Amino acid sequence: MKQSQLFTKTRWEDPADETSKNAKLLIRAGFIHKEMAGVYDYLPLGLKVLRKIENIIREEMNKIGGEEVLLTTLQSPDLWQKTDRWDENKVDNWFKTKLASGGDLGLANTHEEPITALLVHHLNSYKDFPKYIYQFQTKFRNELRAKSGIMRTREFLMKDLYSFSRNEEEFKEFYEKCATAYMNIFTRVGLGEVTFRTVASGGAFTSDFTDEFQTLSESGEDVIYVDKNKKIAINKEVYTDETLEKLDLNRSDLVEEKAIEVGNIFPLGTRYTDSLGLNFRDEDGLLHPVIMGSYGIGLGRLLGTIVEVLSDDGGIVWPKEVAPFSIHLVQIGISDEVKTVSENLYQTLIKNNIEVLFDDREASAGEKLADADLLGIPFRVVVSEKTLKAESFEIKKRASGEILYLNETELIELCQ
Ligand code: ATP
Ligand code: MG
Repeated sequence: MKQSQLFTKTRWEDPADETSKNAKLLIRAGFIHKEMAGVYDYLPLGLKVLRKIENIIREEMNKIGGEEVLLTTLQSPDLWQKTDRWDENKVDNWFKTKLASGGDLGLANTHEEPITALLVHHLNSYKDFPKYIYQFQTKFRNELRAKSGIMRTREFLMKDLYSFSRNEEEFKEFYEKCATAYMNIFTRVGLGEVTFRTVASGGAFTSDFTDEFQTLSESGEDVIYVDKNKKIAINKEVYTDETLEKLDLNRSDLVEEKAIEVGNIFPLGTRYTDSLGLNFRDEDGLLHPVIMGSYGIGLGRLLGTIVEVLSDDGGIVWPKEVAPFSIHLVQIGISDEVKTVSENLYQTLIKNNIEVLFDDREASAGEKLADADLLGIPFRVVVSEKTLKAESFEIKKRASGEILYLNETELIELCQ
């Protein structure tokens, strides 16, 4: 893509109404736009990153047997009344609205109810299980506070998967598989080293623990205690002598840290399947309840976390797998030769299926290089009068600042 054709502009001042690093940098770099508190638009560059994150999650969910669907966000009260989650005293973050023809509607804050109710029409024999169903869909939550940029918003995309199993053993097997898939996802988006599976409370529905995936960051809203050797953590909310003993953890091995919950996995037992009548018949025709689990990852929260954790003073630093482009090709100077060499390199890279952002704008070198740092694309290649004289291209790695001198073939190899 040519940068001269990109409608978004970078800006140098921090937006006055943002306190979080992720929102400041993403707005300055033109990745997102703020509609109002807790509500953000994704612009071309931001959408590219979001889609890459989505595809990584999709690949990992498909690998463990996930089947993708797309449920509606408009929800009728009767389903949610059956599970006692329509009442605002029970669920305090509903957005509700009215039908023109009369009656209430809710904008889904999660999807346990609709997925369970619809499966009653499809699953009924032991032969139909287990099933793992997921989607990428917008959730609406009337969050009280929205001060963490895109990490806590009132409208956000979530990958939510629901597992349906015949017994605890079958449920647990998938639960562990999904935990492994989650770590693969967080590793692929560049957060593997600082993300910990974290024991948390079971919430209202289960006496079991649940597992959160927490990424260490000063901007996090949660406090966790981390055992870095065992690579596991425990949320402050369940940090008691009794739990430590149960988990075989020692107080002296644990370090207190602030962290961002990037995902979680949740045993639900028969809480929803009972209320909504999702059962199955075994070989002998006997009826059994279905054991359910839910598994969420917030895409915007994950994107924001990458920015919080990996950016530096110059701007954003995208890990390779989620970067909007692999190469930022920066043309400095407007002589015919500079133009020709950079245009040719741009075409060659495209032919080799490398994603390039080509800064062909007429702007000063200082402005272009500062923009390249702000945008955070992994490899920056400058073509200028000075570089024309050299035999090779000068490549700067955004993350480390390391400089490489490579010919065209080597540059292509670097990106593949
Ligand atoms: P939190 O405790 O942070 O409010 P939650 O327990 O409400 O999270 P879930 O309902 O389990 O979270 O949602 C699954 C995932 O969706 C979370 O792990 C997080 O990544 C994301 N998420 C939850 N709420 C928001 C929000 N308001 N904005 C953006 N992402 C969110
Ligand atoms: Mg919440």
